[in-house]
Amino acid sequence: MLGRAARLLCLVMRMIAAFAGAVATAGTAHADGCYTWTPTLSRGASGADVTQLQIRLGGYPGYGAVLAVDGSFGPATEAALKHFQSVYGLTADGIAGPSTYDKLDALQDDDCTPVHFTYAELNDCNSTWSGGAVSASTAKANALRTMWKLEAVRHALGGRPITVTSGFRSYACNEAVGGASGSRHLHGDAADLGAGPHSLCTLAGQARYHGFSGILGPGYPGHDDHTHVDHRSSQYWSAPACGI
Ligand code: ZN
Repeated sequence: MLGRAARLLCLVMRMIAAFAGAVATAGTAHADGCYTWTPTLSRGASGADVTQLQIRLGGYPGYGAVLAVDGSFGPATEAALKHFQSVYGLTADGIAGPSTYDKLDALQDDDCTPVHFTYAELNDCNSTWSGGAVSASTAKANALRTMWKLEAVRHALGGRPITVTSGFRSYACNEAVGGASGSRHLHGDAADLGAGPHSLCTLAGQARYHGFSGILGPGYPGHDDHTHVDHRSSQYWSAPACGI
């Protein structure tokens, strides 16, 4: 039995390594195809490393909050990091070090998207991310932030799949599907979620805890067949059929 358990553990380790796209070289534990992390980050740190950390902690700001992606490691970033660490069974010390980086690396693909979501899923319009309300690079960056928030929702809901039915739209794509003229889909930060393992109300309710300032779901006009989430500048939640 022990041998079998050991083999299973080995298999799991290989799967984790595959997910992380890890380089199988000793001493590069905190570098993967996506990003190389600095030794540690904690309160008071600033710069590009903090920005990268904040993107990945975007789903852990707490109920109704949004974590700023500003490259400045303050109390909100520390709280989000502690939340992330605790959710994944790490020591919740608010310091991003080797164990946090190992987990983050395991959670991302080489293109820096979280393992359970892809850029293609977040763009059902074109492959260039152009033609929307913001530059292509901004739209794509917004979609990345959305994916990390969705990864947190997915984890909180037991790790079962979440289906994205629409993401970034150019003006032409938005018009073609009858989207609202000021739709957040034009900014790349919106995602429409379909029912699957989770009901639309479950998705809308859970999204409140993971950095989505915009939530539209069942009972809101045009949203009885999907739950829409985004990160608009001020909070607007409406899913009357869900009591939201
Ligand atoms: Zn939508």
